[in-house]
Amino acid sequence: MTEGRPVDSFASPRFSGVRTFMRLPHDPSPEGYDFVVGGIPFDTGASYRVGARFAPMAIRDASVILRPFNPFPSPGTAIFDILKGADVGDAAVVPGYLPESYARIEAFARGILEAGAIPVLLGGDHSVVLPELRALSKHLGRPVATVQFDAHSDTWDAYWGQKYTHGTPFRRAVEEGLVDPERSFQMGMRGGTYDAADLQTAAKLGFHVYTGPELRQMSASQIGEEIRRTVGDGPVFLSFDVDFLDPVAAPGTGTPEVGGFMTYEAQAYLRELSALDIRAADVVEVLPAYDHAEVTALAAANMAYEIITLIARKKAGGSD
Ligand code: MN
Ligand code: MN
Repeated sequence: MTEGRPVDSFASPRFSGVRTFMRLPHDPSPEGYDFVVGGIPFDTGASYRVGARFAPMAIRDASVILRPFNPFPSPGTAIFDILKGADVGDAAVVPGYLPESYARIEAFARGILEAGAIPVLLGGDHSVVLPELRALSKHLGRPVATVQFDAHSDTWDAYWGQKYTHGTPFRRAVEEGLVDPERSFQMGMRGGTYDAADLQTAAKLGFHVYTGPELRQMSASQIGEEIRRTVGDGPVFLSFDVDFLDPVAAPGTGTPEVGGFMTYEAQAYLRELSALDIRAADVVEVLPAYDHAEVTALAAANMAYEIITLIARKKAGGSD
């Protein structure tokens, strides 16, 4: 009866118990679930501030306040009447060793996918998205669409001559044939760049790019319609970098950029995406040591909650 559901917070209060995402059962085996939450506690790819290795547990801590019925959009979604979920724990990364960690992250995500569950992964710096995309694309045998919320394109070629960092994964993903950029979106780019060409790099790779100022001129339904039309029915990886949010809404992050979005705006954009066939997702770049009052961890937990709601709405067939 309670299998695959959060602990009933009227039976025991939300602040009690061993932490899992949303008080879901901890089950290291992803078999038998529609979705599972997993942590990727890795920050060796960070170019500036480090410490995102502590994000999965911080997000789990903040997530116990989430409730199983999401009233928005109306008439709402009883998530666990539709989906069975679990928290599978964290990938066994190797701190300081990027290729070894990539192999382990890919195997972790692949194991979830092969069990038939949708992975909702908690980073980690954004370098973790590359092995996650390798897992999804190899599992499906085709490139996927990405829908990325981020202040940065993460399509630089290299940092200090190194090809694998949190600033480069989406370029590598295109080069490796994991992503179909013509069906992929990047939204929220802002802040200074190293030179005039940087902002054009992602568009030249084929991505549909909406900078922060451009996105701000559009309603949620306008961008939602654009994404739905372009992405179509194919498989999607949704990647939410918390630096999409303004530093007032997400101070605890690796590379903050002012002029960002509020949490209610991010919720509105996400809620437009229930028609998409989301096969995997992540929420990345939470950095608890720079957080205050769980502001960033709470935002990240809520973004994961909206993503899980999208998966439920899609399965229920109630997508708009
Ligand atoms: Mn990023
Ligand atoms: Mn970013």
